[in-house]
Amino acid sequence: MALRDILILPDKKLRLKSEPVKQFDKSLRGLIDDMFETMYAAPGIGLAAIQIGVPQRVVTMDLAKKDEPSAPLVFVNPEVIWKSDERATYEEGCLSIPEYYEEVERPSAVKVKYLDQDGKPQEIEATGLLATCLQHEIDHTNGILFIDYISKLKRDMVTKRFKKAAKKGEPVKPLSEDKEPSHHIG
Ligand SMILES: [Zn+2]
Repeated sequence: MALRDILILPDKKLRLKSEPVKQFDKSLRGLIDDMFETMYAAPGIGLAAIQIGVPQRVVTMDLAKKDEPSAPLVFVNPEVIWKSDERATYEEGCLSIPEYYEEVERPSAVKVKYLDQDGKPQEIEATGLLATCLQHEIDHTNGILFIDYISKLKRDMVTKRFKKAAKKGEPVKPLSEDKEPSHHIG
């Protein structure tokens, strides 16, 4: 296992559309192991492979709370096949846009089909945080970021801050300090 660097806005790779996984082999296992190690270390509750620079449709997740046993989830080639008309708002954050949080409205429930790490087809119906997290991560596999759902004014502002920081080679300064890191969805 190896800790991998997480790509940060405005890294152009974050906008790539990832390729479906075709081979369920040792290299996929290795990628998944690295993703979990990187996600837990961040810490985050979800990670898409493209966030460590690998354009493959792989998502790892663990929504267990601090005092609960870990509950690792792996979604290969995940795809939303149904979404509710009802919508929910959740304050999202992203490991690739650190220290920035904004409310995003999405369908409150989704059905997702995916393959497990052995290549077996699976389906999951999700509500609440799991539904939000699945949509956030599946978006990553399509090159979409949560800031794409906020106003253009806010998006331009945050993008500018990250571009400036990248130029200077410095981390972006948080806007406010009263936010919990648990808001980092992935
Ligand atoms: Zn993210």
